[in-house]
Amino acid sequence: MLTDLIKRAGVVGAGGAGFPTHVKLDAKADCLIVNAAECEPLIETDKYLCRTYSEEIIDAARRVGAHLGAGRIVIALKRKYTREIEALGRAIHARGAPVELFLMDAFYPAGDEQIIVQLVCGRPVPERGIPLAVGAVVDNVGTMVGIHDALQGTPVTEKYLSVTGAVERPVMLKVPLGTPVLDCVRAARPAAQAYDLIVGGPMMGRVCTDAGRIAALRVLKTTGNLLLLPKGHPLTARAEKPLRRVIRQAQSACLQCRMCTEQCPRYRTGHRIRPHLVMRSVFLEYLTEDRDKYERMYGDAANCSECGLCELYACPMGLSPRRVNAFLKGRLRDLGIDVPKNPAPEVRESILSGKASTSRLEARLGLREYARRHAGDECLTLEPERVTLPFSQHIGRPAVPVKKKGARVEKGELLAQAPEGALSAHLHASIGGVIESIDEQCAVIRRES
Ligand code: SF4
Ligand code: SF4
Repeated sequence: MLTDLIKRAGVVGAGGAGFPTHVKLDAKADCLIVNAAECEPLIETDKYLCRTYSEEIIDAARRVGAHLGAGRIVIALKRKYTREIEALGRAIHARGAPVELFLMDAFYPAGDEQIIVQLVCGRPVPERGIPLAVGAVVDNVGTMVGIHDALQGTPVTEKYLSVTGAVERPVMLKVPLGTPVLDCVRAARPAAQAYDLIVGGPMMGRVCTDAGRIAALRVLKTTGNLLLLPKGHPLTARAEKPLRRVIRQAQSACLQCRMCTEQCPRYRTGHRIRPHLVMRSVFLEYLTEDRDKYERMYGDAANCSECGLCELYACPMGLSPRRVNAFLKGRLRDLGIDVPKNPAPEVRESILSGKASTSRLEARLGLREYARRHAGDECLTLEPERVTLPFSQHIGRPAVPVKKKGARVEKGELLAQAPEGALSAHLHASIGGVIESIDEQCAVIRRES
């Protein structure tokens, strides 16, 4: 069965938080959407995969679509990706596959699951709901490549990723899981000795400014891009700003202009979220003890996807509604306040107007000089001497190790398995060698030929 093969191969969502794919596909849906929108600036991976593995992507989409019983199989990507459209179109034609290409404008966040479902299917996803609630399954294009391999019996052991930004040569890399991130950075030749790093894209990626933390990072199943920026770049500097200061600034500088709300993708899809109101009242948060009142004042924050559009694009004062919402989401969780979900939001007319164009976004983020330089079609492979493989590279419970220290493993051999019945994913050795160390969290393998 398709989901058994996918489970055996340890496939997880390549484009997001790493939801185990065999669980996601244990469903029926009328529409499968392959997400190739790659909407954050300076990420190259999905485009590379579309150009290079178009036939594999089409074959996998077809198999997954049939498994789901989907009457519609759609690959959604931006209309400006002409080479990728050509490659996918050729593969669809060659295979005679019932797959359509859905072309989108270049805006952020075109790749947001809820936006993509709304645009492709015309159905609003419920607040904090998943596309399946309206009959759709959305999978990233990288996940499709993983599924294709899984159907040939090949487990996930490698990762494609781009390295972009302040580097001498932006590159596409194919590396074993567990490769030190520093190896990838060096392959792109940093433009300066000191730099900040964003793992992922500039809008939603994880900011790392500490050299020690960067040195400890490894490539995981969910790593798709590394973005280098000069030390102290405004994008990384603002992420370091203490929350206390963020809240103080909200209190003193918010104009109540509503730009954050008007641009908010969740607000536009009809969800109950108005970041400008939260910004107005957040300074009272610590005084609000009554739970009903707390929910009334701050419950909207639960619907925030943390896409960053409000703070990095919309706000004329450089304030941070996203940081405030993220803080309040955590507080709602800690207080055990379960904010009710609207199951049938009504999309606002503004969903199609005044979208945040990618080029304007690049300019506002101070990334224009890097956006002109691309990784190209060459893909370098790295062969690190050692890999470090955490057993939790996915949402859910960590995989449980099945090997002991000192054991020899072949590339692709099972290293840790998903606990029976739990939301989890298998993990396989990404290189052949000897297990130098292994505990409940991770394994280190030293290469040996
Ligand atoms: S980060 Fe801002 S724009 Fe994005 S969903 Fe949250 S409030 Fe809306
Ligand atoms: S966009 Fe900025 S200034 Fe305007 S309401 Fe939102 S947080 Fe306040």
